Amino acid sequence: MKNIKDALWGFIVGDALGVPYEFSTRNMMKENPAVDMVGYGTYNQPPGTWSDDTSMLLCVLENIINNGDIQSLSELFVKWYRDDYMTPHGELFDIGITTSRALQKVMVGVKPALAGGADESSSGNGSLMRSLPYAFVDDIKKSIFNMTMENRITHRNSICSYCCMFYVKMMRALLEGKDKFEAVKDGAAYLKYGWRITDSDDDHEAEWEWFKLLFKADFAALPESEIKSTGYVLSTLEASIWCFLNTDNYKDAVLKAVNLGGDTDTIAAITGGLAGLYYGYDNIPSNWCEKIAGQHLINNLLNKINLNEKYIQKL
Ligand SMILES: [Mg+2]
Repeated sequence: MKNIKDALWGFIVGDALGVPYEFSTRNMMKENPAVDMVGYGTYNQPPGTWSDDTSMLLCVLENIINNGDIQSLSELFVKWYRDDYMTPHGELFDIGITTSRALQKVMVGVKPALAGGADESSSGNGSLMRSLPYAFVDDIKKSIFNMTMENRITHRNSICSYCCMFYVKMMRALLEGKDKFEAVKDGAAYLKYGWRITDSDDDHEAEWEWFKLLFKADFAALPESEIKSTGYVLSTLEASIWCFLNTDNYKDAVLKAVNLGGDTDTIAAITGGLAGLYYGYDNIPSNWCEKIAGQHLINNLLNKINLNEKYIQKL
């Protein structure tokens, strides 16, 4: 049965695949394409090293398993930021600017719900990259509400939450056995609904135009030159879905994501979450899984969940 194990491993392997290439330009990737899991590069880390994306996601998953709230999640994030909790080699080596600013505020006593940046420059993919576990909670409405609240710890720009809703709804559709294109439609439908009820007095017309790209039936047919692969939340979401739609197996999906260049780890991780769930854990190259660092951290959490169930259910 498909469940969070497929998506989680897909995400983590994608993250680790992208880490050595982060910030490489698309031209650099064209000259020297990624074909396998390697190490070193941007952060000089050994093969299989995952980044802040996975660290924060594991904190979210732990908090869900523990029935935690926004306060306990902010404490886990601070533990990661300050004490290297949930890091593959016991040391934090990568953190986004918006996230580090916000966690510094939490550390001096700012309420978690008010700590995140809310301006335009705070619309990076830092909350999208940790949203995956929310898709696997039985009560999805409540889970998406919690996600939106908990995004505020680091990202209070509403565009970030819209992208998370799109992703989580897509993930949920795949979990329910829908095909890729139906899943995109589900994400889009939910976003349109959310936008209508929450954004009436907000000015996000430019973003809305951008989202409309994703609503187009021929989105997958867009040429690569129209797909940006930056850390801006909308471009990360779009690039990831595009890679997922234009490939037919896990390996090709995540390699396509890395080879777009830019924010390679996060885009490959987001893509990998979708592809891992859709094609299943067994479709992820086993020699890549074997290289993954800090596996005890992943297994400690998965061992607390009943993996015979579709939704997260504590053992
Ligand atoms: Mg990262």
